[in-house]
Amino acid sequence: SAPGERAVLSDLPLREDLRGRTPYGAPQLDVPYQLNTNENPYPPPAELVDDIAAAVAEVAGTLHRYPDRDAVALRTDLAAYLSGATGTPLTVANLWAANGSNEILQQILQAFGGPGRTALGFEPSYSMHPIIAAGTRTEWAPTPRRADFSLDVAAAVEVLASRQPDVVFVTSPNNPTGQSIPLDDLRALVAAAPGIVVVDEAYAEFSPQESAVRLIDEFPTRVIVSRTMSKAFAFAGGRLGYLAAAPAVVDALLLVRLPYHLSALTQAAARAALRHAAGTLASVHALAAERDRVAQALAGLGYAVVPSDANFILFGHFADPRAAWQSFLDEGVLIRDVGIPGHLRVTVGTPAENDAFLAAAKRDTAWGN
Ligand code: PMP
Repeated sequence: SAPGERAVLSDLPLREDLRGRTPYGAPQLDVPYQLNTNENPYPPPAELVDDIAAAVAEVAGTLHRYPDRDAVALRTDLAAYLSGATGTPLTVANLWAANGSNEILQQILQAFGGPGRTALGFEPSYSMHPIIAAGTRTEWAPTPRRADFSLDVAAAVEVLASRQPDVVFVTSPNNPTGQSIPLDDLRALVAAAPGIVVVDEAYAEFSPQESAVRLIDEFPTRVIVSRTMSKAFAFAGGRLGYLAAAPAVVDALLLVRLPYHLSALTQAAARAALRHAAGTLASVHALAAERDRVAQALAGLGYAVVPSDANFILFGHFADPRAAWQSFLDEGVLIRDVGIPGHLRVTVGTPAENDAFLAAAKRDTAWGN
C-alpha cells in the first residue's frame, strides 16, 4: 500500500470552491479503435520522426541550461505558419506558445479572469473552459446554445450586455457539436463584449470558415485566438498550443506564465513538426472527406447527425447514451459520452477505423438502445 493512503481527498484542507468537483477525465483505454479525444489518427511519417529525433538530439547537449524563456524561434515559425494559413500577416510579437492550448487558456484566465471576475461560454462547449475557470477562481457563466447547438447571436449580444463578462469563450468549430461561427457573427459578438473574447480555434484547420485572426487588428484589446498543434498537426503528445493576439496581450501573459514553461525539447520538436506542416496538413483534407462520408453513413442508418466542420461528429438520438457508449466499447470502439442528452461524439479516424465504427453503429442502431 502507498504511504499516506489512509487519507482521502475529503480529509484535505482543499479550497472550498474545489470540493465536490470532478477532474477532466476522458477514458484512456487500450482498445482497437480509439475515437474519443479528437486526435489525428495518422502517426508522424518516418521523415518527421527522424527530423524530430535529430532536433531533440541537437538540444540534448544543452539541457544543462534553461530553454529560451520566450520561445522566440518557435513563435517566429508559428507566426509564419498562421500567416500563411489565414492570409493575415502576423509577427512573432503576435504569437505566444504553451504546453497545449489548455495551458494557453489557463494563462489567459490567470491574466484576465480570477477572483471577482466572470467568464462566459456558450454551452454545450469544451468542458475544460469551466474547469480552467474553476481552477483560476473565475466565476463561470454558462449560456445555452439553441436546441440545434447553433449560436443565437442576437440573444448572445443581449447576454453580453447584461452579464458584462470579463472573458467570453467562443469555440469555433465548437467542440463537441462541430459547427463554426461565421466571421460576421463573431464580429458582432466581439463588438458587444466588454472584455476579452477568446476564440478557441483548436479545430480551425478542418473548417472552411475564416479565422478570427482577421479581427485582431480591428479589436486589439479584445480578440485572442487560441490554436493547437494537437489536432490537425498530429502532435497531441508533443503538447504545443499557441495563441495569436495583439502584442500587448502577449505582454500580459508574460506576467503569469511560469519561467521556462516550454522545455527546450518541446520547442525543438514543435519546430521540426512545423517544418513538415505541408505534409501533415494533407491529412486534414482526407479527414474532412472521411468526416462527410461517416456523417452521411450515420444519417443513412437513421441517426440524427449534427453538421460538423471539425474532425468529430455528434450524433443521436439515444434513449440511453451511456448504454450505447458501452455497447460501442464492447465492440472495441471507444467513442465519447460528452454528457449531452441523447447524443454521443465520435472522432473521425482512418477509413478502416471509421468502417469499424460504422459497423458497430449499424449493429447498435440508435433506436435499439
Ligand atoms: N480547445 C478545444 C476546443 C479542444 O477540444 C481541446 C482538446 N480537446 C483543447 C482546446 C486543448 O487541446 P490541447 O491542450 O491539446 O491543445
